[in-house]
Amino acid sequence: MGDLTIGIDIGGTSVRASVVDDRGTMLDTLRAQTPPTAAALEHCLDRLVGELTSRWDAKAVGLAIAGFLTTDRRIVRFAPHLPWREAPVAEEMTRRVGIPVFAEHDANAAAVAEWRFGAAARGHNTVVLAIGTGIGAGFVIDGEIYRGSYGVAPELGHLTIVPDGRACACGKRGCWERYCSGTALVDTVVELLADGDWGRSQLAADVAADPGSLTGRRVARAAADGDAVALAAFGRFATSLGQGLAMIADIFDPDLIVLAGGVGAASGLFLDEAREHYARQVTGAGHRQLARIRGTQLGETAGVVGAAEVARQAIRSTARTLAEPGPESRPVSGL
Ligand SMILES: [Zn+2]
Repeated sequence: MGDLTIGIDIGGTSVRASVVDDRGTMLDTLRAQTPPTAAALEHCLDRLVGELTSRWDAKAVGLAIAGFLTTDRRIVRFAPHLPWREAPVAEEMTRRVGIPVFAEHDANAAAVAEWRFGAAARGHNTVVLAIGTGIGAGFVIDGEIYRGSYGVAPELGHLTIVPDGRACACGKRGCWERYCSGTALVDTVVELLADGDWGRSQLAADVAADPGSLTGRRVARAAADGDAVALAAFGRFATSLGQGLAMIADIFDPDLIVLAGGVGAASGLFLDEAREHYARQVTGAGHRQLARIRGTQLGETAGVVGAAEVARQAIRSTARTLAEPGPESRPVSGL
């Protein structure tokens, strides 16, 4: 079974913590709602780790965080959906829980998991898009995460695709994730309902009776049932997704794109249509090889499994560094 580590995926709405083995198998999982303040969130994380380490001999913890981290991943600089600002999250948590804690961008964690255990296993230049509350993106180049020069790349979800479009939590307008995410599906349904008469739609009737019942998951369930409003919302979603995939191909020319995250896991509802838009809109369409596009194999567990894998790799590399002789003990040659 190898070393056990704990992966924790900290999303805008929920926290999922799991003990994971070196094959990416989740052995014990706990969930909680994401608390609104930093102190309450940290207390929640400590409690989850305490409960799991009381049952398992876990060596380290990996945190998958939706936000900007410094290049050394010691500081969470800014997280649009979480309360941390310039916070040394992993360092402080290491002190509190007594085993090493490592932080990673959640999309990078998902990318590591898909590359190591899932749908990206044979990709060379791979883009993993985690589509959930927003869009996270991870680039894996022959097994290595691409981090950019200052640790914030790639924020594909905040590329502007609609000038002066829907407001985004990042402070800009018209970001891709405002048209291509679980929350975007909700906004699109609201717009569709305001624009037309959807007399026979069960989703329209349910939303009229209880507006609070409208969630991305509800839209996905309605689309699977053939509801006209939900299918129209997924049609717009697929158009935006294809548009974004074409931009990614123009910038990065990947050989594989994996759609992960909660919405990515429902790719059967939109993948074929998105692929058609992508193939039509990419520059030089018809005269270039296109990336393969696949749905996730790990689904919503990619963040947790990837965070645990990041922690496992970190303690292994620390162990290797400690095992190497230091400069003072190396034989001096050539003198
Ligand atoms: Zn944005």
